[in-house]
Amino acid sequence: MIGLGVEGTAHTIGIGIVENIGGTCKVLSNVIKIYHPEKGGIHPREAANHHAVHVSDVIKESIEKAKVDFSDIDLISFSKGPGLGPCLRTAATAARALSLSLEKPLMGVNHCVAHLEIGRGTIKDCKDPVLLYTSGANTQVIAFAEGRYRVFGETLDIGIGNCLDKFGRSVGMEFPSGPKIEQLAKKGKNYLELPYSIKGMDIAFSGLLTSAEQYYKKHERLEDICYSMQETTFAALTEVTERAMAHTEKHEVLLGGGVAANMRLRQMVQIMAKERDAQFFVPAKDLCIDNGAMISWLGLVMYNSGLRMDVGESQIDQRFRTDMVDVSWRD
Ligand code: AMP
Ligand code: MG
Repeated sequence: MIGLGVEGTAHTIGIGIVENIGGTCKVLSNVIKIYHPEKGGIHPREAANHHAVHVSDVIKESIEKAKVDFSDIDLISFSKGPGLGPCLRTAATAARALSLSLEKPLMGVNHCVAHLEIGRGTIKDCKDPVLLYTSGANTQVIAFAEGRYRVFGETLDIGIGNCLDKFGRSVGMEFPSGPKIEQLAKKGKNYLELPYSIKGMDIAFSGLLTSAEQYYKKHERLEDICYSMQETTFAALTEVTERAMAHTEKHEVLLGGGVAANMRLRQMVQIMAKERDAQFFVPAKDLCIDNGAMISWLGLVMYNSGLRMDVGESQIDQRFRTDMVDVSWRD
């Protein structure tokens, strides 16, 4: 089966076309277009307008790159949530229009679950991982237990990517600031004390963000601040992930989300995995960031397990939590 997936939870409109070959995912194309706010953070309606303007071109490019015809597509999938309402609605509308005009079934999927399933679908040995999902808006530690993907720990305030981007914005960096912070952190020498707040299995970043901004106002070296932010936040994320692995007795760890591009985060999680005799996995970069291929893949997995969705029940859900999904395709 060949599926087309529409991603549009936040800043990215993405169309991915994937094929299910005996239970593994072959990505035929994965085209994204990212909305960059001129100033400040993401404005939901402006992001949605961006998606509406570009979605047709992204669909066309994705079909061309996949070297398929619209008639080859067996299923249309889209991100049902969580995300920004106007963005989700725009992407879902495009998906419904495709489904109706091509007369192909429709499947709405959970965006966070898609980040995990794309790892299982594309990495041979990745079967039952604990996912450390670190993106702009979301930060969760997710693993399968008793029929659901359970959230073992998550941010209590802002996502790790958002924390880095907000700091970057307050010191004059362009969006997204994560990659720039990574480069500056390499030149950091002095560790500056920052709040390390883990509450139970959850994490908070906003206090750390405020402290980092105060260091900047006190003229501490930017490189040292970036280095200290990375060391502190990534250590907290690695700690929670390790505790989830110990609790669930799982021996695989998977990264997902845009911040998974960061080599220092990868290194810390990899060291932790090695010390536990666990396997460490990261999907290809274009499958870590928000993308349509992972949405398409999860849709196919759900459809193959017998799940169906009418257009009438395809409404979006801004607060669609990871653990609301009945994962009937796994045992
Ligand atoms: P996503 O929301 O999953 O599409 O990921 C976007 C987020 O990833 C933004 O907050 C970026 O700042 C962050 N990001 C991208 N590359 C890196 C990097 N190399 N290091 C840290 N954060 C990054
Ligand atoms: Mg994401």
